[in-house]
Amino acid sequence: EGGIRGDRGVRNETDAREKGPVSHLMRVWSVVKSERLMVAAALSSLLITNAAEIASPSFTGSILDHVVKNDRKGFELAVLYLTISAVVQSVLGAFKATCFRIVGRKITWHIRQNLFSQLLRQDIAFFDAAATGDLVSRLGNDVTVMTSPITTTLGSFIGSLARLIGGLACSFIVSWRLALLAFTTLVPAAYLTKRFAMWSSSLNAHIFTSLGEATKTVNDALGNIRTVKSSACEDLEHKKYKRSLDRALKEGILDAKGAGINRFLGGLLDEGSLVIVLWFGGNLALQHMHGGDAKGPGLTVGRLIAFQLYWSMFNNSFENMQNLLATFTRSAGAATRVWSLVDSFPDINDEAGAGSVQQWLPASASVGPKVELRDAVFAYQMREEVRVLQGLDVSIAPSEVGALVGPSGGGKSTVIHLLLRFYDPHEGQVMLDSRDLRSLRLQDVRRKTGLVSQETQLFAESILYNLAYGLHDCDDIDAVVLGASTNSAGDEETSTITIDDAGEAPTREQVLEACEMAQARVFIESFPDGLATRVGERGVRLSGGQRQRIAVARAFLRKPRLLLLDEATSALDSESEALVQQALNHLMEQRTSTVAVVAHRLSTVRNANAIHVVSGGQCAERGRHEELMAIEDGIYKKLVKTQVEAGATSAIGE
Ligand code: ADP
Repeated sequence: EGGIRGDRGVRNETDAREKGPVSHLMRVWSVVKSERLMVAAALSSLLITNAAEIASPSFTGSILDHVVKNDRKGFELAVLYLTISAVVQSVLGAFKATCFRIVGRKITWHIRQNLFSQLLRQDIAFFDAAATGDLVSRLGNDVTVMTSPITTTLGSFIGSLARLIGGLACSFIVSWRLALLAFTTLVPAAYLTKRFAMWSSSLNAHIFTSLGEATKTVNDALGNIRTVKSSACEDLEHKKYKRSLDRALKEGILDAKGAGINRFLGGLLDEGSLVIVLWFGGNLALQHMHGGDAKGPGLTVGRLIAFQLYWSMFNNSFENMQNLLATFTRSAGAATRVWSLVDSFPDINDEAGAGSVQQWLPASASVGPKVELRDAVFAYQMREEVRVLQGLDVSIAPSEVGALVGPSGGGKSTVIHLLLRFYDPHEGQVMLDSRDLRSLRLQDVRRKTGLVSQETQLFAESILYNLAYGLHDCDDIDAVVLGASTNSAGDEETSTITIDDAGEAPTREQVLEACEMAQARVFIESFPDGLATRVGERGVRLSGGQRQRIAVARAFLRKPRLLLLDEATSALDSESEALVQQALNHLMEQRTSTVAVVAHRLSTVRNANAIHVVSGGQCAERGRHEELMAIEDGIYKKLVKTQVEAGATSAIGE
């Protein structure tokens, strides 16, 4: 069941590719349906503008013919027509362009915010598989590329199509002989352009790949800048980046040369065609002037000019169409990536296999739930062949502390992930108060769960923002709790974003109390800005221990029913560790929540009600500290011995 997920994204992309640009347009249309009126206005002004455009050359020709015939009245009438056509073109042309732009902006808005919401909804397995850079570029660049045909080119596409047909038809009407002649010169030019476009597009695909590699290098290097610098690998990263850019440049130059040759040959054919047409057409006009048969092949000068204008109208729109088609193809490519994301539905969702999900109301407001894993089997999607959990049983009684210990890589953190429902087990069950986690509303469970993990992730906002994250629906928590707007945006209008079930903002006292219990108050108050201190990107302006204590304070503030501690102290120095451990003991002593704790240092779990030794994806031993120490040759006993020997467990008191 878990394996299906892996190819879902891929399958969507092929679907969309098979359907191509037309289906893409249909989908975009379904998005803009609400803008029908504006689209209709844009399309009708487009059609009227085009009619005026197509009529213009014949008015121009007519002006010339009346001049030659010395017919003032006819001449003035023709000028009037041309003027009307010009006014229509400029007024409606501008109106049409504005409408198309507005519609385009609305589509971009709609797709972007939908896409981001859909992204946030994806489950953790999705993010295991995806590269952040790729997702960011889908949201930014791809959405722009996919909507560009609508914002700017759909109007010109329809316009070009109309001019293409109108120009060709009118050329034939004015002089079919000339039109046939001109047509024959077009064939080699069109063939040439097509061949070049094919060659260029495959070359450009290579260029994109190289540029993508370059972007990946930048993401990796800047994201891990400390590793890069401490390993003195600046030059290495630069070389990697330059290598990708070099490739893109080489191919780009080849493309530019190809485009030059194409342009040269195309221009030659174009100009050649003009010379041939004018030579032949001029001959026909001469025949006419020397009294040729009115019904014969003769041509007035005005009509020759009109033909020339129509033909270049046709020719220009032909070229234009080719460019626009290329834009459409590019846009359909970007659209494929965007739609596949919009369509991909997370496996972890609120639709239980049968029946609907229920609210999770813990038995009592002051007692944590009973937590169980029953015979859980699980493998990560990225490494399906490795069964991380192989029938694991874990059981923690209400409001007790259950510990998970064992060799590294044994699957302890995986248990925490399953309890948060980041993933579902392939077989077996995760139970809260004897109910399958899949039958409980996801948000309920997560809102009532607190997590402190090895690496605390902080937002680049204030300390207060990080402490109160997800607890309230205030837009500017600093202003609400601290009474001072620290928002750099200043007087930007404040709006409230509604979050389902979110409560009121915590009071300053509650926040400080939580910080106090988490041993975080002293260091927070030592900062000049106190709770309003900005922590920097990912919290870089704080030490590891400080970040960790903020996570603990956050957990206090949430008053979780289920508290998950995943090696919460393992990344800390011993002083910070002692402080954080003290804070956690506080939290556990309250006995208002059930605690699952993964610990590397066994001293920290000595007092747990039940210790589970997780090894090879199974629960090898289970019991209290003393019981486990009594097992001869037991894994736990050996682990304790190793740690004592390593001198890391003076606190264990053996
Ligand atoms: P522990 O917490 O006991 O050290 P974990 O639960 O973190 O062990 O990991 C168990 C196994 O699962 C390890 O072999 C690890 O490499 C693998 N693993 C952990 N997370 C992922 C992931 N997101 N994708 C693929 N494999 C993973």
